[in-house]
This record gives sequence, C-alpha cells and structure tokens, in this order.
Amino acid sequence: MKNYVLTSVLVGSVLVLSACKPVDWAEQKWNSAFNQSKDEKVEEKNDHKQHHAEQNDQNEEKPTQTDEEKEQTQQKDLPWLNDTVTVSGDGKAVVQNLNDMLIVANKERNLPADYEPVDLVIPNVPFPFKEDLPKKKLRKEAAASIELLFKGAEEQGLQLLAQSGYRSYDTQVSIFAYNAQQYGEEKANQTSAQPGQSEHQTGLSLDVTSPEVNYDLVEKFGETKEGKWLAENAYQYGFIIRYPKGKEDVTGYKYEPWHLRYVGKEHAKEIHDRGVTLEEYLKKP
Ligand SMILES: [Zn+2]
Repeated sequence: MKNYVLTSVLVGSVLVLSACKPVDWAEQKWNSAFNQSKDEKVEEKNDHKQHHAEQNDQNEEKPTQTDEEKEQTQQKDLPWLNDTVTVSGDGKAVVQNLNDMLIVANKERNLPADYEPVDLVIPNVPFPFKEDLPKKKLRKEAAASIELLFKGAEEQGLQLLAQSGYRSYDTQVSIFAYNAQQYGEEKANQTSAQPGQSEHQTGLSLDVTSPEVNYDLVEKFGETKEGKWLAENAYQYGFIIRYPKGKEDVTGYKYEPWHLRYVGKEHAKEIHDRGVTLEEYLKKP
C-alpha cells in the first residue's frame, strides 16, 4: 500500500446528545453505554485501504505527501484512530488509549465519563486569576513542557497567560448546557464540546491568551505577536495548534489559535512540518 491520501479525511456527522437534559440523566446514559462497550468490545473495522486505492487514480496528479513523507508515515507504528476505539451498544465510539499522549477526543470519539488523568499538576505559569481551580491543571509531562514554552515566549518579550487546562466531564456537562441554553444547540456545538468529547478532559490541552486581547479566547489572538509566535514555535516544546484555520471540516471546530495541545516534541514537529491536524496524522495509511 504505497499511497496515502489525506483528502479523504473528513469528520462525519455529529452525534447529538441532548445537552439540555438534566445532568444525572446524561451521565447515567453515558455510564451504561460505556459499561456495555467494555463487555462487547466490538471493533470498528472500516476498509480504508480499499477506499484509498480507489481514490489514488483520481488524485495522482496532486500528491499530498512527498515520497519521503509517505515512507516515514508507513514506518511508524502510531496509535491509529481506528485501532484506539471500541463501539458501544448504542453506536458510540469510546476512546481506549486513555493515557496515551496521542489520545484523540473529538465529536466522533468519546472519553468515558469517569476518566480523569492520574498525574494532573498545576504548572508554574501565570494565570489571569488567583484561585487554585482545577482548570489550572495539566498532566505532568504537558505541565513541564508548558513551563518551558512560557519561558521561551518570555525571552522573546511576549506575554502569555494560561486561561484553561484540565476540565472534568461534569464541568463540560455544565458548560455545554449553558452554551446550548444561551445560543442554541447548533452554535453550542460549533464552539463547545459535548461532555466526553472535550480535549480538555485529557489534561493535555491548554487555552492561552494575552493582555492584548484582554485575556479573552478570541480569533484575533492569532494575529497578535503572541499568537503568531505560538503558531510558529509551539511545536518545539511539544505542542500543536489543535484547531487550525481551514481545517474545520476535519477537526469539527472553528479556528482556535489559543488552544494548545501537547503531543510530545517528535510528533509535534512532524504535525507542524506537514501542516496536518492530529486527526490526519493518526489516520492509518
Ligand atoms: Zn480549548
């Protein structure tokens, strides 16, 4: 299997849970779905190879990767998307590689409601608030790396602040319900994650901001010197801009220049250099 076509990577239809239902209802439903999945262990088996083979003829004149890159992709044994979920009784994909630095949670991949990383710590970086809230936390490795990233930014005269890291399943329940009530479910879906589908629950994501945008999480941040520096340099510290511009159909989210995701230096460099999203990077060739 020589060819690897990125153009077929698309995030499909969104599973819609009613976010307006009471919290205990949603949780109960979720827990039972997860328990069922553990028993059944039905593996998702899509024959993507066949799909790619068919597409190759059409796309031959427009290769998306160089030969060298194709080789690198094939040599690697990564936790491919299809290999890291099981499908629960109600058809939901439940993420299995929970402690993996390459874990992927998105609108098609759900984290168990009771999943909380065991190694959460508060990184020594500035926050625009003083309280010791859970959202200050990150997994240990990500926390150590974000401290280095902030130091690197500071050396360039830049002023970054950490706004929001770890978020529990229950907190996400409240956030999504609030957004759905305020702006409607469709808008809430574009801007906030459904419970279990937020990357912040992995403890590997951090939203950062700067005084220039009043500590807000806004698209304008991408045009500030802090935002630009992050886009160009975050990978050197093991982070990627998780929701890039123009990849909304792949990630399922609009451009978020403030949302950093830790994946480790090696993977971050490759993802950055190839200009792909985490979903594209982990699509089995
Ligand atoms: Zn975020």
